[in-house]
Amino acid sequence: MRFTDLEKKYPQFLTDVQCGADCGRGWVPILDNLMGTLDVLQRKEGFTITVAQIKEKFGGLRFYIGAVPTEHYETVYTFIDEAEQLAYVTCEDCGEPGKTRQGGWIRTLCDECENRLQQRKKTADGLCESERDINAIIKKLMDEEKEDPMLYKSLIELKKKIKEIYEVHSMVGG
Ligand SMILES: [Zn+2]
Repeated sequence: MRFTDLEKKYPQFLTDVQCGADCGRGWVPILDNLMGTLDVLQRKEGFTITVAQIKEKFGGLRFYIGAVPTEHYETVYTFIDEAEQLAYVTCEDCGEPGKTRQGGWIRTLCDECENRLQQRKKTADGLCESERDINAIIKKLMDEEKEDPMLYKSLIELKKKIKEIYEVHSMVGG
């Protein structure tokens, strides 16, 4: 189940969310459970819950709603709190047990997804480095071969080609 499936399943909550709603696939079952529970509650008790925003922040799930009648406040926020606590120990990418990882972007991931993320970062860094190396070599050759217009032209072509290749790679890796 993806986030877009939630939008279809809970149009009463997710049509026109004021400040946007999105998160990784791993947390979708948590939201499915939460919104299912909230929907039963609001139907049974005859009030309306408005979702204002759903997002990931500092590795945690944030589920913001509009005003709730005082008598239902505690029940509603107990459900939301449970879901947010569960997200802290659930990989946002795949839904397996996870933990919050520090770094430039704090995320909650399982070991496998964390390794994959670090690997992708490493590959991207490596590609940047090798592109810099290759460009340095070409630049050196171009400086040396200025006297030979044919060779010089080929080097410019080669440079363009390499740029294209790396752009494709960085798109796949990103
Ligand atoms: Zn995972």
